Amino acid sequence: SSGSPRIAEVLEEELDRAGLADQIKVFEPGCFGFCEKGPMIQIHPDNVTYCEVSPEDVSTIVQEHLIEGKQVERLLFMDPNTKERFAANIPFYNNQLRIALRNVGYIAPENILEYIAADGYQALAKVLFHMTPLEVIDTLKVSGLRGRGGAGFPTGVKWEFTRRSEADQRYIICNADEGDPGAFMDRSVLEGDPHSVLEAMLIAGAAIGSSQGYIYVRAEYPAAIHRLKIAIEQAREYGLLGKQILGSDFDFDIELKYGAGAFVCGEETALIHSIEGSRGEPTVKPPFPAQKGLWGKPTCVNNVETLANIPPIILRGAEWFAKIGTEKSKGTKVFALAGKVNNVGLVEVPMGTTLREIIFGIGGGIKRHKTFKAAQTGGPSGGCIPTKYLDSPIDYESLMAIGSMMGSGGLIVLDEDDCMVEIAKFFLEFTMDESCGRCTACRVGTKRLHEILQKITEGRGTLEDLENLEKLCNIIKDTALCGLGQSAPNPILSTLKYFRDEYIAHIVDKT
Ligand code: SF4
Repeated sequence: SSGSPRIAEVLEEELDRAGLADQIKVFEPGCFGFCEKGPMIQIHPDNVTYCEVSPEDVSTIVQEHLIEGKQVERLLFMDPNTKERFAANIPFYNNQLRIALRNVGYIAPENILEYIAADGYQALAKVLFHMTPLEVIDTLKVSGLRGRGGAGFPTGVKWEFTRRSEADQRYIICNADEGDPGAFMDRSVLEGDPHSVLEAMLIAGAAIGSSQGYIYVRAEYPAAIHRLKIAIEQAREYGLLGKQILGSDFDFDIELKYGAGAFVCGEETALIHSIEGSRGEPTVKPPFPAQKGLWGKPTCVNNVETLANIPPIILRGAEWFAKIGTEKSKGTKVFALAGKVNNVGLVEVPMGTTLREIIFGIGGGIKRHKTFKAAQTGGPSGGCIPTKYLDSPIDYESLMAIGSMMGSGGLIVLDEDDCMVEIAKFFLEFTMDESCGRCTACRVGTKRLHEILQKITEGRGTLEDLENLEKLCNIIKDTALCGLGQSAPNPILSTLKYFRDEYIAHIVDKT
């Protein structure tokens, strides 16, 4: 979206013109994560990164760097505060720990050999030839890995439940229906390291006793779909999908299914119905998909980021992973850092990192030296966290305790100019539009909430409206059928809790 493909094209042309095309290889990796400074070119083995490169800059890079051996100073990253320039070790990356994103931006995602050279498919070989299915499940349980899609359910326990359900077939589904506004964690993994997801699904298949997997991916992610198709084809060619994988007696294949953009299809029962060809509507649990899922068979649904963590856990061991993070939230989390922050981008940090470290350290602080007001985490179902919690460690439990949630990893920074009532209304509009309409609490309740918010923002609200708003939020939370409706009031409840004065400021008649 920042024009990188054009940069790659011009680079190829310039290298050709300079007679360097057979000496220097150009490839388009996945996202480098530092969106604020894209398009970026990295030159290896020199380990030099150029930022905000325009097509006109490319000939300068070729002439000065590649031919004359000098760095192009003006295209190196400059720290906005110290004005220092960095060719490598850019501060944005310094406090990150990349496990799920370990290969994203480093390998050519359309070449299986690059994934293999980065230890790819070794975890699968270990599982097939050196571990029993129960050992694999135990490893995940000990590692403490929890689902990164939002709910945070322990992955090993989910696998165990699915394996224990008696059936002639079980299914693995990769939930790649990332739908939070501004979130692109899963998309980055799929575009930059698709084989890590395939390898994890194969491992899940071997552990759970499944021979068929599905990747449910948003149709609006054409680059991810393109790379997944290539990855699946190459995996088949190398005997990593299909019959008797790597010469073992394990058969497994993967099929792509496309989501048509309904947010609710990220909910696992709705997703399953969508794959089956029915309306993408959630159903009451139990039965859980692990008992009765796709086509009525036990089904394990895992999110993309969750899966991307699995090969390194198998290779490096549960204890290695369990040492990272907090007591109850192990490992790392990828966040899509957006909004009024200097360094917009994709960041992966150990669980327990504070909001301050992410926003003011990695994120470089607030744009245009404005004052931080709040951080919205957890997507449209999350909450707004005020300044007093900037030093809270981020993990599943602590975010819930302060009225927000981890969600899939959206992190939107708001500054002094943002109206918190408008922010709550914005997120509510999203969930109201995306409500599937199945249950009254969500279908009708979100509309009524929106009407009250509209009244307040237009200066027609009363104090009684505030009370009704709060009451209705709690009713919807308690009675909606699925997570979408149950969490839709979160942005209102958290802003009412921490920014009530802003609601009151909109109310003219305060009697
Ligand atoms: Fe559909 Fe909303 Fe009910 Fe979920 S809570 S089933 S999205 S109407």
